[in-house]
Amino acid sequence: MTGLSAIELEDVVKEYLSHGEVVQAVKGVTLDIAEGEFFSLLGPSGCGKTTTMRMVAGFEQPTKGLVKLHGQDVTNVPPNRRDVNMVFQSYALFPHMSVWDNVAFGLKQKRTPADEIRRRVGEMLEIVDLTGRERRRPREMSGGQQQRVALARALVNRPRALLLDEPLGALDLKLRQAMQIELKRIQREVGITFVYVTHDQGEALTMSDRIAVMNDGLVEQLADPREIYERPATAFVAGFIGTSNLLTGAAAGGVLKVGGGRVLVPGHDGDVTVTVRPEKITIGTEEPAPELSGVRGTVAEVVYLGTYNSYAVNLADGADGTVITVFEQNAHDATATAERGDSVWLSWQAQHSYVIG
Ligand code: ATP
Repeated sequence: MTGLSAIELEDVVKEYLSHGEVVQAVKGVTLDIAEGEFFSLLGPSGCGKTTTMRMVAGFEQPTKGLVKLHGQDVTNVPPNRRDVNMVFQSYALFPHMSVWDNVAFGLKQKRTPADEIRRRVGEMLEIVDLTGRERRRPREMSGGQQQRVALARALVNRPRALLLDEPLGALDLKLRQAMQIELKRIQREVGITFVYVTHDQGEALTMSDRIAVMNDGLVEQLADPREIYERPATAFVAGFIGTSNLLTGAAAGGVLKVGGGRVLVPGHDGDVTVTVRPEKITIGTEEPAPELSGVRGTVAEVVYLGTYNSYAVNLADGADGTVITVFEQNAHDATATAERGDSVWLSWQAQHSYVIG
């Protein structure tokens, strides 16, 4: 990353007229994406990610606000005059053309000299690991291979930014995970700014330098993956990225009394909402030491998941209805510490309680 801005959105709003009513798809988004950055827009269906991306590409005009590419205001510039390319979930390859011709298409249209086309297409196919498959047709290839052809076709034009809208959505889980690693490698190799739209939190965490978590037309948090997971800005972000395990109540002297025990929230007083991630919690039968947070409950469910066990624990005493999820690694043996119906203590270190807001 150079630190220079590749894409800037300044308080961008997009309204649609739907059946005589105004729908605000994007309600005021401000972003500054650096050159060479792998940036993701992450959020549930309908939160406005695709609309945001389409405004960057120029397929939609903002109702309000500015779009800048590499420092230039492009708000009123048509898509074909913006130095960005877009890759979709449906690869939109030309079915009657070979892999080579699909990738070379854009360069031929621009009347690029033949030897330059040969060199650039060859290089690009090497980067996406399709050397030797130049003569195949799209239908003779797997979904992952077709997606790599689509990527090569977009990248061979050397756009300054590539926009990707759920490009791996049609692939099965294993292939998707393999492609996530590939995409990140390719992005690093070509050094082009990638803006990636996804509703899959694992995908965003795996690949991104930074993530904008969107909800209902707004960005709720913009940070790197670790920060988003460890220090979620809102209860929505905590719940969307993993399991939130929210505990709420009035803290006094840095202690929140809840679930027949206490949650340590040093420096906090008054109403708090606390999140603690399932893998930070230890499940046991003994009351934990006073320097740890500890709450009591009853095991409602244990699920064996191979590398770990997942427990759902109903909290006791005044926290009825609060269910805490605990992940226990199966590092040494595969027997679960507790069974359904057992009374247990859950404990974790004070630093693993994160107070939201
Ligand atoms: P998904 O993951 O389902 O594609 P998204 O986060 O990309 O969702 P958008 O496609 O940006 O969301 O849509 C945001 C909101 O705007 C939705 O409520 C959608 O119904 C609405 N919307 C999008 N395009 C139009 C349109 N052309 N006309 C009217 N409403 C639209």
